[in-house]
Amino acid sequence: MKYEISITKTTAPKEHPADESKLGFGQIFTDHMFLMDYSKEKGWYNGRIVPFGPMPIHPASTVLHYGAEIFEGMKAYRAKDNTIRLFRPTENIKRLNNSAERLCLPLLDEEGCLDIFNTLVELEKDWVPHSDGTSLYIRPYLFGNDPHLGVHAVKEAVFAVICSPVGAYYAEGINPVKIAIESQDVRAVRGGTGYAKCGGNYAASLRAGERAEQQGYTQVLWLDGVERKYIEEVGSMNVMFKIAGKIITPALTGSVLPGITRKSCIELIKEWGYEVEERLISVDELFAAAENGTLEEAWGTGTAAVVSPIGHLFYNGKEYTVSDNKIGALTQKLYDNLTGIQWGKIEDKHGWSVKVCEA
Ligand SMILES: *Cc1c(COP(=O)(O)O)cnc(C)c1O
Repeated sequence: MKYEISITKTTAPKEHPADESKLGFGQIFTDHMFLMDYSKEKGWYNGRIVPFGPMPIHPASTVLHYGAEIFEGMKAYRAKDNTIRLFRPTENIKRLNNSAERLCLPLLDEEGCLDIFNTLVELEKDWVPHSDGTSLYIRPYLFGNDPHLGVHAVKEAVFAVICSPVGAYYAEGINPVKIAIESQDVRAVRGGTGYAKCGGNYAASLRAGERAEQQGYTQVLWLDGVERKYIEEVGSMNVMFKIAGKIITPALTGSVLPGITRKSCIELIKEWGYEVEERLISVDELFAAAENGTLEEAWGTGTAAVVSPIGHLFYNGKEYTVSDNKIGALTQKLYDNLTGIQWGKIEDKHGWSVKVCEA
């Protein structure tokens, strides 16, 4: 089922950034955005692409008071065969609906949502940057928008999609990151919203992130919220370890975000003949492996960086170096294969890369 989408084009198109090496992340936005309203009576209605700009919001809107917001993050790639492509977009739509279900927000029709992404990306295709490693970041988000303060599942909502040309994540080569394991704050607990991609999870994570940054670490690695013992995930990435030849990644227990990059990595690694264990892994087990030399590689996975090698791990006053602070062979192979598929440089046996339009 497709949604109606009216298109109002901007009369003042913006200049495209001249220097693609300075794009950064989420700084610049394209000429248009998608908006659609929801009400309990009408369902989703008034799907529209309009010039990018501020949107009026009621001062009592649910999202401003009770944080009823979920989002997604995906990229459009300018592929080698002169097409614009998305990577497993249906996975993002399914996850958006799972997040919506958790926060009592209205769901979207899968086919209709994909049509929204395709229509907007095709209209903005000239904004997909050309340089190696660059892409058009797509940020769909959905929020509760009842114009009053009662606390209940919303009757009104907005679905929006904005797009931002982003730079190569590794403009200066892939450098391993320094990660601090957080022992005070927790990100999520089972039964909470950890598996939903919701803004509130991020709001609660900022304090630990700031503390880690002040101490020279790039991101926080979260432990489980109950025992503060089991590894969960890193900031906006899932995490994987290669220990004595086996790949170990925290199981999706409900407090971990089910990453699409994580899922793709697991599928590839299994195809390459490795054993992959999705299970609980404690910080003690991890550091025992680091101390006895069996921790061979550690990396994060997520749409922004694809894979991000971890060079240092800090916990309770101790710091461990992983893989001589260099990218490991398997981490590199994952990076090469996933980016190869995304930019159409290698054969896509899985049908993960989905064409939007000719470039
Ligand atoms: C989005 C996100 C990830 C990574 O998911 P991908 O689908 O691989 O981009 C991991 N953890 C958190 C908390 C996230 O929000």
